[in-house]
Amino acid sequence: MADSTPSASPSDRHRPVYVIGGGPAGLSAAYALRARGIRAVVLEKSDGVGAPWRRHYDRLHLHTTRRLSALPGLPIPRRFGRWVARDDVVRYLEKYAEVHALEIVTGVEVSRVERTPDGSGWLLHATGGRELTGAAVIVATGYNHTPYVPDWAGLDTYTGEFLHAGDYRSPAPYTGRDVLVVGVGNTGAEIAVDLVEGGASRVRLSVRTAPHIVRRSTAGWAAQYTGVLVRRLPTGVVDRLARPMAKLSVPDLSAQGLPRPDTGLYTRAKEGAIPVQDVGLIDAVRKGRVEVVAAVDGFEDGKVVLADGTRVSPEAVVAATGYVRSLEGLVGHLDVLDTRGRPVAHGARTPQNAPGLYFTGFTTPISGTLREVAMDAEKMAKAIVKNGADALSRLPG
Ligand SMILES: Cc1cc2nc3c(=O)[nH]c(=O)nc-3n(C[C@H](O)[C@H](O)[C@H](O)COP(=O)(O)OP(=O)(O)OC[C@H]3O[C@@H](n4cnc5c(N)ncnc54)[C@H](O)[C@@H]3O)c2cc1C
Repeated sequence: MADSTPSASPSDRHRPVYVIGGGPAGLSAAYALRARGIRAVVLEKSDGVGAPWRRHYDRLHLHTTRRLSALPGLPIPRRFGRWVARDDVVRYLEKYAEVHALEIVTGVEVSRVERTPDGSGWLLHATGGRELTGAAVIVATGYNHTPYVPDWAGLDTYTGEFLHAGDYRSPAPYTGRDVLVVGVGNTGAEIAVDLVEGGASRVRLSVRTAPHIVRRSTAGWAAQYTGVLVRRLPTGVVDRLARPMAKLSVPDLSAQGLPRPDTGLYTRAKEGAIPVQDVGLIDAVRKGRVEVVAAVDGFEDGKVVLADGTRVSPEAVVAATGYVRSLEGLVGHLDVLDTRGRPVAHGARTPQNAPGLYFTGFTTPISGTLREVAMDAEKMAKAIVKNGADALSRLPG
């Protein structure tokens, strides 16, 4: 891994492809380009690859299988097991960068991307006043970029312990304490279970919309396999197929506050709410060890106000309320984002008004994001070679 300043000469006819972000998406894109003899330089703002994975909570394992989570050009070692642990994901990403001799510059944050004045390439503004010119740019800064906390009334004056799930590591600080987890995505569901198993005295889970819950694996068949099989089917068909399957595999938790959702599983997934993979939530809710409560409306007099009017006084609140993409500063001025701040094109397709600007990792397919970025990498590399042949800097040999 390089740690020097990337060289750039805007007058060079041949330019590298710059990849912004050294997570799984950026690393696999760099590999796919390198495998085609194209120089790709990864710019990573932190001091190593896979930075978000180093910060995730301790008990995290991939919900997708080892085999279907591998990036192109390197299988994940068998010894990491079927559901790969967080630390092993980091080990794998480090090995991936090393084995493929990827050119990675750490400690460089890209703040803005714009067309070169002559329109022949892309100019990147980065840490320390750097200006780098690339033949093409791949934005791989992550779907889960910036922790999001709703604009709750009274939160600014709330003095109780409050943290975003991105800062949660383990249940140890909460042993014997009363904790409210807000949000029932995969992260909120798993943190609630972690707290119960770690000895919190009371765990409540605040739910606005009941989620679809699926078993991570049934008789050896991973939920991800179904996701891969149905991915291209019409949304309504998948919604209809999912309903009886859910009834068979997941008990009715209405009495405990988690009714089956009215909106179909795939409809919800396409809106960005991927199903919750059960890693203990069903059991914990059935046994009353995780109590489901209404959505949070705000904070008042040191209490949390819920949508049904109840006021609760937990000792700590963990907001598992998701992340935002934060692409506005980087590329917002290029008119390449939709109303929700997501890129209008991804993978091999570039926005019509921004040829040579690629995005990867900004979708949440039910077949798995890692599998998706691995496939995107090959498609983008092919497209870049096809569209930019003369302008690309090639590796020697
Ligand atoms: C808790 C959790 C569990 C997940 N589990 C799974 C799973 O089991 N299976 C699955 O398929 N997917 C999973 N995902 C989804 C997804 O696969 C991961 O988030 C994955 O890390 C995405 O890779 P990425 O490279 O797109 O983004 P990231 O891993 O977020 O990497 C982006 C990188 O870009 C860097 N960066 C950001 N902005 C800049 C900038 N301006 N300049 C330079 N560098 C920048 C960041 O420091 C970071 O290193 C999970 C996500 C989360 C949050």
